[in-house]
Amino acid sequence: MDHQPYIPGLSPADPGPLSRFIPALEEGVIPAWLPLHAPAGSWLLDPFGFSPRLVLEAARAGYRVLVTVNNPITRFLLEMSANPPPESDFKAAFAELETAKKGDERLGAHLQSLYLTPCEKCGREIQAQFFLWRKGEDAPYARVYECTECGDTGERAATEQDIDRAKRIAATDGLHRSRSFEKVVALNDEDRIYVEEAIEHYLPRPLYFLHTVINRLDGLNLTPARRRALNAMILLACDAGNTLWGHPSERPRPKQLTIPNQFREHNLWIQLERGLSLWLETTSGVVCEAWPNKIPESGGVCIYEGRLKDLAHEVKKEIPITAVIGAVPRPNQAFWTLSALWAGWLWGREAVEPYKLALRRRRYDWAWNATALNAAFSHLFELLPLGTPFFGLLPEPEPSFLTSALTAASAAGFDLQSLAMRTEHDPIQILWKRGEHLKREINKVNLDDVKGSIHAHLIERGEPASYLHIHAAGLIALAEAHALKTKEQEFDEAMRETQALIQSAVMSDESFIHYSTGESVDTGEWGLAALHEQPSTVAQDESLSDRVEVAIVTFLQKNPNSIYLEIEDDLYPRFPGLLTPSKMMIYSVLNSYAEKDGAAWKLRLEDVASARRNELITITAMIEAVGKRLNYSTRKQEKNILWVENDQIKYAFYVLASALVGRAILETPHPPEQTLIVIPGGRAALAAYKAQRDPALATRLKKYRVAKYRLLRMLVEVPVLTRETFEEQIASDPLEKAKAQMIMF
Ligand SMILES: [Zn+2]
Repeated sequence: MDHQPYIPGLSPADPGPLSRFIPALEEGVIPAWLPLHAPAGSWLLDPFGFSPRLVLEAARAGYRVLVTVNNPITRFLLEMSANPPPESDFKAAFAELETAKKGDERLGAHLQSLYLTPCEKCGREIQAQFFLWRKGEDAPYARVYECTECGDTGERAATEQDIDRAKRIAATDGLHRSRSFEKVVALNDEDRIYVEEAIEHYLPRPLYFLHTVINRLDGLNLTPARRRALNAMILLACDAGNTLWGHPSERPRPKQLTIPNQFREHNLWIQLERGLSLWLETTSGVVCEAWPNKIPESGGVCIYEGRLKDLAHEVKKEIPITAVIGAVPRPNQAFWTLSALWAGWLWGREAVEPYKLALRRRRYDWAWNATALNAAFSHLFELLPLGTPFFGLLPEPEPSFLTSALTAASAAGFDLQSLAMRTEHDPIQILWKRGEHLKREINKVNLDDVKGSIHAHLIERGEPASYLHIHAAGLIALAEAHALKTKEQEFDEAMRETQALIQSAVMSDESFIHYSTGESVDTGEWGLAALHEQPSTVAQDESLSDRVEVAIVTFLQKNPNSIYLEIEDDLYPRFPGLLTPSKMMIYSVLNSYAEKDGAAWKLRLEDVASARRNELITITAMIEAVGKRLNYSTRKQEKNILWVENDQIKYAFYVLASALVGRAILETPHPPEQTLIVIPGGRAALAAYKAQRDPALATRLKKYRVAKYRLLRMLVEVPVLTRETFEEQIASDPLEKAKAQMIMF
């Protein structure tokens, strides 16, 4: 298989609405892929409609994108992002809500009063930003605020007043709760219990807030555009108002409706205002129509609300699809259930009806995922011409998800063309082509093929890999052999067999080493035993990180003042498929060798090749000088400088300008206890980073001593130097110290 390079993109400055449920994709990936596979103006199909950003980027790049969406919330996100109301409508709708009457007071003032709390320092009544709750309790235990009067800020214990207010609102909860589910399903609906369970993820105060607002909507005098704008803001408050906000938590991406042990109750008035600014940041002018309305050849989005299966025969007749794009969906019970709930609240029961299954379906495992994906791929097979490319992005990858997607596609007649993977935190980029036969010959599963594929990847890599990487290498071998699933097998059985096969491939073979503190096969790193023990018997490349270092430095020598994306653009085609270097690795090299001027990277003055060559000569001369002072005779032997006494080698110095310590260990013919690897101080953190990510290198490196240039410069200056003080000095500056200086990203 000829793997494509990973296509780099930029993390969006603004993650967008409901970002914790929407795939985190980089910008610029799809516009880079498309021109190579489909002429501008042609039709694309996104069968999942899971990522509004992906669709809009394709439309903006000049393509007509047909999207099937059956989740009403995802559909609304897509429409809003494509074609949002103007800012003035957002502001007018918000003002209309704020000034509406609630009894004698304004609705805005009433809703804000729900969150009043006394400042601990100055005693004034102020807005809490959020309250903190423990699961199962009937009042908050703390509040977090920023006092606008005295500046006091932070987490403070809840007061009597906070507790009273929470309990007072809870006393009227029953009424709001039953009205809340009646908006989603009828009282006698068999799915009522699922809705009640979903609403359990709302505390009384946010539920009261949301329904006070939603019940006022019809009474407000709003144009359709303003109503849409207000719905968009309320939608974000609906998400901010549930209990799925664990505290403390950095990047919550909930998948299950599970109440955390401690969670935040957001101030929904603040969240409404925040929604206003979040939506205003996402403005984009893309033509967006509902199927079968026409969109211009210059690009746009056409939404088919419903299932791919119902669209298939219409598309085949009328629309020539040149490529399929999509973020492959992974099961998300939390988002799917909440979507049904929110759709009911915002648009009523009819909006929930086509999506009601999401309420009922409670357990989504990977076999379920594979079955659902396979159905989608099978419909695609029917409607696409032979050879149509499908560019799939697999967000938040994990071994089971990858197995699910590859098995589903293969069983529906799609051939895997390429798989590019960076880290487990980045979407995997997969290219399939619609093959010749939906049902095709299944080849026999072969353990040796799987082992061979994993072995080949580890050899190519020259260093250990994560389980996800070797799992992918095993899956690729099985996909190429069409051996992921037989016709008779159900998906759960086929996937179990595949997972077991790959795991036993690495666990049953002693040539694979597991570097891990845990028992589980998917933790830590996997490497090859033979790789460094007998370098002469294994055709082995240098380690990936060493090759990446050389490639980046070479690129910057030739292209000073390059921006990060240009560096990735040069680098990724050199390391395609599973070899794609991580951002962390690239930044580690850049921080070691280069400096940033604005967005542009260039080599530091001392790291330009000519300067480094001169310094190598100086350091070599210093090593000879120090050796002579300690009464050794010195001589050069290839890349080593030797200190010799009575014809015996006492020290062998291997001087590097780089952090290629792995290469130094391979090349030096001298035993570790005699060898000193000498590196520039600026490489120490990079060498430490390499050892930290590569346990095999760390083990080998431990046997060697590493000294920095500056130590030799210092020793040259020391007036009295003995062999003992030399040893002490060498031991006093180990590489591990450099770890603390590493700049983290
Ligand atoms: Zn105060």
